[in-house]
Amino acid sequence: MTAPTPLIAGNWKMNGLAASLDEARAVAASAGASGVRLALCPPATLVFRMSEALKGSAVLVGGQDCSPEESGAFTGDISAAMLADAGARLVIVGHSERRAGHGETDAVVATKASAAVRGGLEPIVCVGETLEQREAGDALAVVIGQVRGSLPRELERTAFAVAYEPVWAIGTGLTPTTPQIEEMHRAIRATIVELFGDEGAKIPILYGGSVKPSNAAEILHAAEVGGALVGGASLKAADFLGIVGAI
Ligand code: PEP
Repeated sequence: MTAPTPLIAGNWKMNGLAASLDEARAVAASAGASGVRLALCPPATLVFRMSEALKGSAVLVGGQDCSPEESGAFTGDISAAMLADAGARLVIVGHSERRAGHGETDAVVATKASAAVRGGLEPIVCVGETLEQREAGDALAVVIGQVRGSLPRELERTAFAVAYEPVWAIGTGLTPTTPQIEEMHRAIRATIVELFGDEGAKIPILYGGSVKPSNAAEILHAAEVGGALVGGASLKAADFLGIVGAI
C-alpha cells in the first residue's frame, strides 16, 4: 500500500489581516514540488483574498470550520460551499478550540465533516485528549472514541485527513514523546482501516501541537505521521517553511 502524500497545514486561528497575506505569498514563493501538500487556513475573512493571492501556487487554502448546514437562517455561520466558492479546498473540523469553546460533540463534528464533503471540501478532522485524560490513562480510549464518532460513512472513498492534536500540546510548547505519538497514530491508523478498509491506509494522519522548526524532523519522521497541523508557527513564513523543510 502506498504511503499517503504528506500534508502540512497551517491554522492561523483568529489571526491575520490583509497585510498578513505577505506571509502566505512568501510561503508560496518558496514552496516547490516537494512531494508534500501544503495548505494555509486563514480566518474566513481572508479565504478569498488568500486564494486569489496564491492562485497557481502549490499552496492550498482551507477554512478553519464550517457549518453542518448548507444554507438558511444561521447567522454568522459559513457553509462549506461558501468556503469552496471563496477558493478553499480544505476545511478543519473538530478542532479542540471548537470542541471545548463551542460545545461541539463528535456527532456535530461528523455532521460538519459530511457537510464539508458535500460542499466540495476535504475535511481535516481533529481529535485529541486533554491532560487530565492522558494522566488518567485514558488517552487512547478517548481519541479512538473521537475517531469513531467524528468520521461519518460519507468519507468513504473521499479525500480527508485526521489530525491528532493532544489538547495539552496546543500552544503550550509541550509535545508528547515520539513513542507516545507513534502509539496514538498506529491506533488511529488501525481504526481508520477498520472503518474504511484498504482506503483507510491512504488517509494522512497529521500530528498537531507545538510543532516548530526545531522539533519538526523528529515528529514528521515518526511512524504513521503523515504531516502536521501547525498553529502558531504557521503565522511566519520562515517558521512554516522550516517545518516543511524538515520532512
Ligand atoms: C493547533 O491549534 O492546531 C495547533 C497545532 O497549535 P500550535 O501549533 O500553536 O500548538
